[in-house]
Amino acid sequence: MRKNIVAGNWKMNNSHSEAVQLVGSIVNSIYDDAVQLIVIPPSIYASEIAKITSLSQIEVGVQNSSQYESGAYTGELSSSMIKSIGVQYVLVGHSERREYFDEQNVTLALKVNQLLNDGLTPIYCCGEILEEREKKNHFNIIKNQLEEGLFHLNDNQIQSCIIAYEPVWAIGTGVTASSNQAQEIHHFIRGLLVDKYGVAIAESISILYGGSCKPSNATELFANPDVDGGLIGGASLSAEDFIAIANSFS
Ligand code: PEP
Repeated sequence: MRKNIVAGNWKMNNSHSEAVQLVGSIVNSIYDDAVQLIVIPPSIYASEIAKITSLSQIEVGVQNSSQYESGAYTGELSSSMIKSIGVQYVLVGHSERREYFDEQNVTLALKVNQLLNDGLTPIYCCGEILEEREKKNHFNIIKNQLEEGLFHLNDNQIQSCIIAYEPVWAIGTGVTASSNQAQEIHHFIRGLLVDKYGVAIAESISILYGGSCKPSNATELFANPDVDGGLIGGASLSAEDFIAIANSFS
């Protein structure tokens, strides 16, 4: 059966000491150990954060990786480097990377390939902007993001991936997708997985919701049959809120 997961994307926030303090508070909290917790700090802190979490059940991710294997790519981090510091998860195609760094599905597919070659777990993000939803084009957009960035994978490879549905209009805005809106899209994504890979594989893949998820709405969102947890931005910068979200599965 697929895992329930709560992943905290710290984005470009926190000094070194704040990051160490935050992960320390999370490690020392009491949380539902049936839920996989993942912290995703800025890469520069990831090695130390991975050491701090190493005796806990908390896993570590980073927010981006290179589509190239190694070489003259100034400023980039390869999947093998990420693996070598004990980090297992990598965000791919977060909407902020798509918007501000012009990341296209075709590049994201290459990043996914590199990660899988090194045995890492991509958390592949998809989601529509407000205008696309208003034009009722959101199903097509999400389908396209998945088909171009992820559905080139074979049956084994896709089972090593996590999908995060993040409606861009809900990220950092305080506006959350309603529970019904989240379930509708998660069910749609699961259906695409069924069509491409069959029921058994589709049922084994965790699909996370992201977009202003917080302690006050997590229980309702996570109660949906196709919502397997959350990718949390702002609320993951508070250990108390992050843990409250992790404890929101019924
Ligand atoms: C995110 O950036 O992945 C996110 C979901 O942010 P927030 O929770 O702040 O909306």
